[in-house]
Amino acid sequence: MAVDTLAYHRICAELTARNVALVAVSKTKPVDDIRALYELGQRDFGENYVQELVQKQAELPADIRWHFIGHLQSNKIKYIAPFVHLIHGIDSQKLLKAVDKEGRKLNRKIGCLLQVHIAQEETKFGLNRDEVDLLTHAYFNQSAYEGVVVKGLMGMASFTDDTVQIAREMSTLKSVFDEIRSSYPSHAHQFDTLSMGMSGDYPIAIEKGSTLVRIGSLLFGTRS
Ligand SMILES: *Cc1c(COP(=O)(O)O)cnc(C)c1O
Repeated sequence: MAVDTLAYHRICAELTARNVALVAVSKTKPVDDIRALYELGQRDFGENYVQELVQKQAELPADIRWHFIGHLQSNKIKYIAPFVHLIHGIDSQKLLKAVDKEGRKLNRKIGCLLQVHIAQEETKFGLNRDEVDLLTHAYFNQSAYEGVVVKGLMGMASFTDDTVQIAREMSTLKSVFDEIRSSYPSHAHQFDTLSMGMSGDYPIAIEKGSTLVRIGSLLFGTRS
């Protein structure tokens, strides 16, 4: 078994002290590895692929909170809508509307995070600053969104060794988060999640105000 239980306990202690939540990113890893962390008390797991998530959810305990952290296609929302706890990658109003539609069908409010583009790389998905403002404005000013609850923001820093750059990108995301919270004070209690930080950069993310980190390889080993 590849699960690093020592790393798990060390990371949990670090995060608990700072009141930061952990999503254990289990993409491409077998259900036995997930079970091993579940038995240590971990309940939040993150997956990137719809089909893989659906299969694992069916096999594993029902009280796991599943986070979808990948790029979500509209036509696949329906497969995860009945059970998903939080969708981290909402990167357009069209996608938020499509999730809302599925949520309303099921009489659920599906938790969502807006993905903000903070990295220098062109390839990373996400909304730019203007798009975030437009989308939060639409969401907070319309009662139409009955099937979703937008819980906050998610971002991925550049894949680089330059910790100064990573810290700068994460600070940017934190200020966008804070600005939205102060623009909509009556919603701030539910707009409370800032998902940033992965295996390589989570200590910086904690410093910069992350409330939730998504950690895979430090817990489950590297992916092939
Ligand atoms: C895979 C993935 C992670 C975890 O990456 P590690 O470097 O293995 O910790 C976190 N967030 C997203 C969006 C991912 O796709």
